[in-house]
Amino acid sequence: MKKCGDCQACCVVFSVAEIINKPKWTPCVHQCKTGCAIYPQRPKACRDFVCYFLQDPQGYVDKETGKRFRFGRDDRPDRLGVIFSSQMVSGQRVIVAHETYPGASRKPRAKHVIRVLAGHCPVLVHNERGGSTIVGETADLTRVGGAIHTDHPAAGLTEHREW
Ligand code: SF4
Ligand code: SF4
Repeated sequence: MKKCGDCQACCVVFSVAEIINKPKWTPCVHQCKTGCAIYPQRPKACRDFVCYFLQDPQGYVDKETGKRFRFGRDDRPDRLGVIFSSQMVSGQRVIVAHETYPGASRKPRAKHVIRVLAGHCPVLVHNERGGSTIVGETADLTRVGGAIHTDHPAAGLTEHREW
């Protein structure tokens, strides 16, 4: 399995309920040069989170080119600008993508990765300004958007079948 190295993207991007003053897209007070200053005692949410880059799934065939895609060194979230994770929503697997800075999901490499993944299952992209976009085919946009991200009304979602 890959390692986080000096990536700390998820320590900035996600809120952690157990940590006061840790809203989304805000550095955690426990971040330090070597990673997490309370690593042995870090909250369960931090222990449980393994991003898609780390999981290193077996790869996906790019349906446009037929080539197999694997997460590479430069796809580490702090370098790519996007953290990918996956969730099951009403029996459907959805890949969730969070930008680490505004506009990161629209950079060429990030767009490429999102497009390849969206060829296999819907990708829900949360941008740093609070908007959300579904990329790819999903039978029920409202249910997927609402179930995953209840603080973003599904009505605010935009849908891209082409990315
Ligand atoms: S975003 Fe992934 S690679 Fe980066 S610190 Fe978190 S789990 Fe590790
Ligand atoms: S407690 Fe540690 S692992 Fe959890 S968000 Fe803060 S720095 Fe990251």
